Amino acid sequence: MDIPFNKPYMTGKELGYISQAHANGHLAGDGEFTWRCNAMLEDWIGCPKALLTHSCTAALEISAILGGIGPGDEVIMPSYTFVSTANAFVLRGGVPVFVDIRPDTLNIDESRIEVAITDKTKAIVVVHYAGVACEMDTITAIADRHGLMVIEDAAQAIFSTYKGRPLGSFGHLAALSFHETKNVISGEGGALLINVPQFIERAEMIREKGTNRNQFFRGEVDKYTWVDIGSSYLPSELVAAFLWAQMEEAATITKRRLALWQHYHESFVSLEADGLVHRPRIPTECAHNAHMYYLLLPSREKRSDFIAYLRNRGIGAVFHYVPLHDSPMGRRAGRTSGSLDHTRILSERLVRLPLWLGLEERLGEVIEQVIAAAR
Ligand SMILES: *Cc1c(COP(=O)(O)O)cnc(C)c1O
Repeated sequence: MDIPFNKPYMTGKELGYISQAHANGHLAGDGEFTWRCNAMLEDWIGCPKALLTHSCTAALEISAILGGIGPGDEVIMPSYTFVSTANAFVLRGGVPVFVDIRPDTLNIDESRIEVAITDKTKAIVVVHYAGVACEMDTITAIADRHGLMVIEDAAQAIFSTYKGRPLGSFGHLAALSFHETKNVISGEGGALLINVPQFIERAEMIREKGTNRNQFFRGEVDKYTWVDIGSSYLPSELVAAFLWAQMEEAATITKRRLALWQHYHESFVSLEADGLVHRPRIPTECAHNAHMYYLLLPSREKRSDFIAYLRNRGIGAVFHYVPLHDSPMGRRAGRTSGSLDHTRILSERLVRLPLWLGLEERLGEVIEQVIAAAR
């Protein structure tokens, strides 16, 4: 690919911080760089506790344990999402209950959540697709009414807001991703955001193999021992050092991505006016982080032709999720609630365009080819 779909951006300071971690001689998790990253996230999101993990998947798995999900417990979520959103709960014996998405944002349709609730429902998992917020006021009100937990899969949503408040601060728990395909990266990486202080102590133990190692190092207990279930969910200091370089530049990264996004958006006004594509819709209460630029084409066939046209010209445009409710594991492990027509139809029509720092110089070419492909 001449112009790939994704190209990880590096600030140039990553190796310097990694060699600092190397010089510190602390390579395992929870050293100075991890603490700095945790503190920065707490400051940005406004959450009482942030804990780096080795992935967003890990943060979701910790959430499922903290949420007390056990065999047969139901967890309401969209089907149009990444496998980890569901897998984390299925690993505990939970049953994903898949609900349709809104056609404007491709986020879970909040008007379909309440009918999906049964006496087995434990939690609602929202996914802020493309970094655009779900309708959090409605969703938290439903959760409060029924005594359910809210967990935000905010993998794509760092620096996005809903009514001015950062995503990741709404759920009892939230999960971020620093995978190399996201806005702020460390190769593989993630964070658990804890908004309910009662969960902090247990989250630290689950993340440290079910031990009270953190309490021991703080001098709060005099023995370091096995106290809970858990796993090794923390990243190495080398990864945290890389991430720190990215976090220092995160505001600039977001600003540059937003400029690319806006340029795409303005360039496709006439394609939309001519009925050839649908552009993303951003509700007025949402400020997004330009995680993704996508278009909706009129049909699956048109999308295949569109992707092939661009591929032949060296441009990497790609589709996204295959709905989970229709996957082999999703069918075995979960169930649907209501019709999933929007999920099915929109997942067949969506195409994502390249969006990475450095694309600025070639954005004009991409736009020209996209317009030609859509016409
Ligand atoms: C990327 C992503 C994940 C997984 O993130 P990892 O850090 O790779 O585990 C989970 N959910 C959503 C919505 C994502 O986009």
